[in-house]
Amino acid sequence: MEEKNNIGRRSFLKTVTLTAAGILTTSSCSETANKLSKTVESSTETATAEQPAEPLAMPVRELGKTGVKIPILGLGTSQSLDPVYDKVMHLCFKEGVTYLDTALSYGWGASHRAIANFIKQIGDRKKVWITSKSGNRTPEGLIADIDKCLAELQTDYLDLYLMHGIDDVDMLDKAFIEAGDRLRKSGKTRFFGFSCHGGDVVKLLNKAAEVGGIDAILFRYNFRQYGDRELNLAIDACSKAGIGLLAMKTMASVPGDIEKVVEFRSQNFTLGQAKLKSVWADTRIASIISEMDSVKIARENIAAAKSQKTIKAEEMHQLNRLAALTASYACNGCSHLCESAVNGKIAIADPLRYLMYYECYGKQARARELYQALPLEARNFDIEDLKKASAVCPQKIDIAARLSKARSLLAG
Ligand code: SF4
Repeated sequence: MEEKNNIGRRSFLKTVTLTAAGILTTSSCSETANKLSKTVESSTETATAEQPAEPLAMPVRELGKTGVKIPILGLGTSQSLDPVYDKVMHLCFKEGVTYLDTALSYGWGASHRAIANFIKQIGDRKKVWITSKSGNRTPEGLIADIDKCLAELQTDYLDLYLMHGIDDVDMLDKAFIEAGDRLRKSGKTRFFGFSCHGGDVVKLLNKAAEVGGIDAILFRYNFRQYGDRELNLAIDACSKAGIGLLAMKTMASVPGDIEKVVEFRSQNFTLGQAKLKSVWADTRIASIISEMDSVKIARENIAAAKSQKTIKAEEMHQLNRLAALTASYACNGCSHLCESAVNGKIAIADPLRYLMYYECYGKQARARELYQALPLEARNFDIEDLKKASAVCPQKIDIAARLSKARSLLAG
């Protein structure tokens, strides 16, 4: 099932590059810009939040060279799921969002158990694609952890098993790649890869493209990063190596009152839908994994995925402006920059991510739990030290102010 919903309209759409839309800012990135050349409508049409008038199929894309097509929208499940009957999972399934992304650490087994129950309810394991992850940092631990995943999910295989949230390129050394090979051969997972929230994502992607043995990568990718030449080249390298690319953190949210500096206006999409559309405009990305923690959000995201309308240059321009005006609140997770400026002793990217959960997603309890799980010494900081960290931050974040806010909201 290709993206047939879009094909018929393409001849009517004017093709422009994202550079022309002011998205790519690096002139030497023309090859990448061509890959990002997307159909962007130049005309104005009428509608508000996009809702398809008639049922449409969920578009699918190839996941790298796996030979498998997956829906362009997947359901992230780190939120609390209803263990008896989860309305969001059922709605998503009905609408073609058959990709479920979970992890051993999500709810410490609660996500797995709710998915196991859901599979019983739909009556056929094969109708869903299940990705799970382990945060273990040894090959043996990864091999052992898959059995826990399978036991909790009550299934005998995963579709994709990921090393969870890695930020160290050593996790792509031979021993880990061989562990992936063993797991594939054992039939416990069809495919193997990793996820990364932060650290040096470019380095991780480039190494993955080089070493082989990685089928898919789930990484942070959103409208704020389109001008990042190094990241674009690394995505290109993975794409050429046949690695399936999955995007997360696509909302790149900042607090609502800050986001309002740009009164996003569109006749087709809500701001959230436009953010998704901007990522789907990059056809190197197979799917967006979105944590849809309400029926309302799920409906909105599904409507965007199924919509035949593509994002317009003018809408991309507004996203670009939003990125520029709110940069100092949006941490990209590039902790190798700021944390190494303070000798790796202070946790910066993680507390800022938890602050985002608190301020933007209304996940106060989860944010506090995660913050308080950080070692005490990593939470301590000296304001003077943090000036060095801010000096290297590409987003120009006032790290001392934001960490102070994190501490006041999340420590107690
Ligand atoms: S604070 Fe700045 S340098 Fe540090 S991870 Fe966030 S964006 Fe990167």
